[in-house]
Amino acid sequence: MPVNAPDDADRSDAVELKDAKVDLPRIEKAVREILLAVGENPDREGLLKTPNRVARAYGELMAGLQDEPRRHLKTVFRERYDEVVLLRDIEFHSLCEHHLLPFTGRAHVAYLPDGKVVGLSKLARLVEGYARRPQVQERLTTQIADALMEELNPIGAACVIEATHTCMTIRGAKKHGSTMVTSALRGIFKENPSSRSEILSLMHYGDGMKA
Ligand SMILES: [Zn+2]
Repeated sequence: MPVNAPDDADRSDAVELKDAKVDLPRIEKAVREILLAVGENPDREGLLKTPNRVARAYGELMAGLQDEPRRHLKTVFRERYDEVVLLRDIEFHSLCEHHLLPFTGRAHVAYLPDGKVVGLSKLARLVEGYARRPQVQERLTTQIADALMEELNPIGAACVIEATHTCMTIRGAKKHGSTMVTSALRGIFKENPSSRSEILSLMHYGDGMKA
């Protein structure tokens, strides 16, 4: 590579990771630097493959960045169903964008259709797509609710996420076992107190939550 070339000019060895393009060699170089920076010897036997392993792991954890998760909401069924659709306990794994440490938990996603319905697995894929990137839990929650509102034009949409952040539990404040809960309520679930109360209790939350 010419000396003056921008760092990202040569992408020829970028590796196709599932359907996302992640420049694994570039991550490998950075991980080697981290190992040197903390006083490790990246050339000792146990660490030889570590940069590559970390690169692949990061590639997988951030593959959603190249994805447009809303694509999962494009295949809709026309259905005269005017009751709540709720998928509870969608497990997800994400990376906190402040520390690049994992936060993991469960999302509960619901909407009240106005004619447009999607397959339940699509709701799980929507969560997965937005989770697999550098994230903050608040944004993850609103992105999911907003995608539902804008793609399905439902009467209401709701997303509640509870997660444990390793940047809290293994470092810093070391609050073991603490869980962060965020919610995004849209449409009727935001405006109508009884609808809001109903959806939160279906999600097994009380009505004491702030929207
Ligand atoms: Zn963090």
